[in-house]
Amino acid sequence: MKYISEFRQHDLARQLARAIAQTVDPDRHYRLMEFCGGHTHAIFRYGVQDLMPPNVEFIHGPGCPVCVLPTGRIDNAIQLAERHEVILCTYADLMRVPATGRNSLLKAKAGGCDIRMVYSTQDVLKIARDNPDRPVVFFAIGFETTTPPTAVAIKQAQAERLANFSVFCNHVLTPAAMLAILDAPQPVSIDAFLGPSHVSTIIGSQAYEPFAEHHAKPIVIAGFEPLDVMQSALMLIRQLNEGRHEVENEYSRAVTRQGNVKAQALMREVFELRPQFEWRGLGLIPDSALKLKPDYADFDAEQRFGLPAIRAADVKGCECPAILRGAKKPQDCKLLGTVCTPENPMGSCMVSSEGACAAYWSYGRLSRRSG
Ligand code: SF4
Repeated sequence: MKYISEFRQHDLARQLARAIAQTVDPDRHYRLMEFCGGHTHAIFRYGVQDLMPPNVEFIHGPGCPVCVLPTGRIDNAIQLAERHEVILCTYADLMRVPATGRNSLLKAKAGGCDIRMVYSTQDVLKIARDNPDRPVVFFAIGFETTTPPTAVAIKQAQAERLANFSVFCNHVLTPAAMLAILDAPQPVSIDAFLGPSHVSTIIGSQAYEPFAEHHAKPIVIAGFEPLDVMQSALMLIRQLNEGRHEVENEYSRAVTRQGNVKAQALMREVFELRPQFEWRGLGLIPDSALKLKPDYADFDAEQRFGLPAIRAADVKGCECPAILRGAKKPQDCKLLGTVCTPENPMGSCMVSSEGACAAYWSYGRLSRRSG
């Protein structure tokens, strides 16, 4: 298939592995953080780490929107379904993320709540049209990739005067999270970043330029196929060797410097920055998430239902918070593959199809402890 098979070719992978081996400085260690879980899964599914020299290490980052959503927001969603008797619409991965008290959206649904899995915001609008006497709430999560479709749905609902539709907004912003990782009180040692691919199709590579300059960290926007990851690693290693800290774009078949200007305008029209937002593992990060602008307040579920801010603890023993900021790896969690499995997840990193723990489980990386 075009755009997939040519990015998985064995011969090219071997050539890239040789080029990386010839380029690395044997006297230094390279710690490359992949921000996206899609990269983590490509690295383990295709054995990319095994093709790297021993001094090139991938550090797993925030992963995906499901991974970084804190427990309190899941608790909020369950409250909506239980106390306010809404039809709560959500994407499938969120259903099994543990909430407080070993609860989850799936368990709440089994207990009688009207929680429905959807594939798109258009599904939610249809449910709202079909149920005019019931409040319908879209549990919206995602980085910048999925924010524009939520904006479209809100504008569509306003145009149709769909008064029973509202959005529980949990859209978050990637550059702010990258900043928070480096500015943490006890920052993890990271030399360079594999930049998000899908997110960057929207925000463009220029969104990372101030960050790369200010923190002197090279960034390469990387596609999700194994050759993309290897080529991007080579580009980062070259930058580090040459003392450069630039934003380079390996994923040029989809990402431009400007990004999707129309989608950015749509987001600016409907959303504004929250002063701060809690991320699992990263804590409260200023200017890192979006809420609905006052013009669209009628569609804001948080305001409509008066949802309280909840700070909730993660499952005891779950290392998701440390894994999401790159401080630990899944093998460091004693629950991995014993108590915690995809069938019985204890944390978001095992639930999400882009989670680091799910990658280790799926591709058999359970035995080696990091370090
Ligand atoms: S293996 Fe499970 S319990 Fe451990 S960090 Fe991952 S999700 Fe959390």
